[in-house]
This record gives sequence, C-alpha cells and structure tokens, in this order.
Amino acid sequence: MTPLSPPATIAFIGLGMMGRPMASRLAGAGFRLRVFDVSQKAVSDFVGAHPSALATATAKAAAEGADALITMLPDGKIVRQAVLDGRDAAVEGLASGAVVLDMSSSNPVDTQKLARDLAARGLALLDAPVSGGVRRAVDGSLSIMVGGAAADLERVRPVFGAMGKTITLCGPAGAGHALKALNNYLSAAGLVAMCEALVVGEAFGLDPGTMVDVFNSSTGKSNATEVKGRQFVVSRTFAAGFTTALMAKDLRTAGEVASHLKLNMPNLQQAVAYWTDADGKLGKGADHTEIFRYAERLAEEG
Ligand code: NAD
Repeated sequence: MTPLSPPATIAFIGLGMMGRPMASRLAGAGFRLRVFDVSQKAVSDFVGAHPSALATATAKAAAEGADALITMLPDGKIVRQAVLDGRDAAVEGLASGAVVLDMSSSNPVDTQKLARDLAARGLALLDAPVSGGVRRAVDGSLSIMVGGAAADLERVRPVFGAMGKTITLCGPAGAGHALKALNNYLSAAGLVAMCEALVVGEAFGLDPGTMVDVFNSSTGKSNATEVKGRQFVVSRTFAAGFTTALMAKDLRTAGEVASHLKLNMPNLQQAVAYWTDADGKLGKGADHTEIFRYAERLAEEG
C-alpha cells in the first residue's frame, strides 16, 4: 500500500484544544483537509486561519473523497456516533479502502467492537491516542500509541509523522487506547501526589516553588513536577489545556478495563472515585491542574 503523503486528503473531525493544533500541523505539512466540528465557531476559526482547509457541515460531508479520517473527540461513544451510528455519519461518505484513525482517548473495549464493525464495511481502523498535551500538539512532538495492523500504520505513518515524534505500535485494535488510559492513570496519580505534597508542605511552612525545584532534582520528579508544578499549580494559573472531566473519563476507562478483565485494583478504583468527585465539585470546564484546589478543599474539610 502506498503511504499517504501530502497532498493526500484527510477528513478531520473535532477541532478542540487538541484537534485544532493537530489539524494545523497537517495543513502545514501540505495535506488537503476537510474539517468538521459540531461547533461552527471551531470550524470557522480553523478555516479562517487555514484558508486551504475546506469547512464541511457533517461528518459524512467531511469524509467524502478522503483517504483517511481522523477523529479527535471527547470519548469513544461520540466517536462511534460520528463515524458509524449517528445521522450523516462518516461511513456514509467514506470510500471503501479508506482508513479511520481514532486519535481520541476512547474506551479500548468499545474500540475493538468499532474495528470489527468498520472492517465489515471494508474500512480499517487504527486507534491512535496521543500524549503530550496542547504544547506538544502545537510543536508536533506528540507521543502516538497505535493499535491495529502494522500495514495500516505504515500506510498512514506520514500523517502521524506530521503530528507526533514517537509513534509506537502497541498491539492489535484497542491496544493504543488501553495504553493511553493506563498512561493517564500514572499521570493523574503523579499529579495528585504532587498536589497533596504541596498542601502538606505549605501548611508546614515550606515554599511551594522551592518544593517543586527540589522534587525536580530529586527522586520525586515526575511529569507533574516538571511541566505542571511551577507552570500551572504554584502559579495558580490552572491552564494546562486538559479538563478534569477528560482526566476523570480516562481514569474511568482504565478502571473499566481492569473490571472487564476481573482484576482487583484498589488504588486505581480510588483514583476513579477521587477524580469523578473532583470533576463534579470543580465545575464544568475546570482544568485538570485544578485538582490542587480540590486537594486543598479536602484538606480543609479535615
Ligand atoms: P475538547 O473538548 O477541547 O475538543 C473536543 C471537540 O470535539 C470540540 O471542539 C467539540 O465541539 C467537538 N465535538 C464534540 N462532539 C462532536 C461531534 N459529535 N461531532 C463533531 N465534533 C464534536 O477536547 P480535547 O482536549 O481536544 O480532547 C480531545 C480528545 O483528546 C479527548 O478524548 C481527550 O481525552 C484527548 N486528549 C486531550 C489532551 C489535552 O491535553 N487536551 C491530551 C491528550 C489526549
């Protein structure tokens, strides 16, 4: 199969915090883009910034004539609606032989079913969730975790190459989504540990900036201490660009995978409950670094 190099046509669905910079990287690399989002503003802002991209009004319209279709949507249920089950779904516009790339963080068990259902229509699916956040989406250095067939990955490698630096084939369909959920469990656990340490340390009289600096030159160092500590938590700007709601969803996904496999994971289940409660209490749209405020609130409740 010939690799999909520019100027191949890509349909891109979901122009949010991540989708927008990822699609921007594709446009910059010379791919032809057909874009769709339920937010008309997201579409018009994107096309305003990238006049070569074509705005479309449905997932089906975006998919017409596309060699590959990328979804960057909140979760796998929404992906399934947009690609297969919903009105004007992408499958109605996709040509047989096209490949679907779900780069959202979806539930891997649902992904396995979606892969089977799309295969029955002659369409290949790769799950290809990403890690690295908005900053690395902007500079094209995302980590991309791929599930699916090696030949399909080779075909779309130039597409992924425009958005990411590390591209790892993790296994068959669903493997990328499973690894992504587990990665975010580690990421969330590290963030909560840092926040609790900061709350205790401050109460003891320690300076939070000094604490983060010491963590970063000591064994407490983590992604949280390195790229979220001073930047978003100590500064209290809480603007990392990833919501508490999405992190809570990723933890529930990791928990559901463990339950599906009948594995008892008490720490993971506690993290699911902690983030789900925080999501309810911090309010709609809260950044995931605001988990620090939740930790402070719990500490005060005694
Ligand atoms: P977001 O909420 O900013 O963007 C989602 C976009 O999808 C929005 O523009 C929304 O209007 C659109 N949308 C929703 N339903 C739709 C539908 N049915 N059809 C078309 N468009 C629809 O979310 P995000 O932060 O960009 O995250 C997207 C995915 O990437 C999620 O699965 C998230 O877990 C994952 N992710 C996010 C980050 C991050 O740092 N933000 C990092 C890695 C992975």
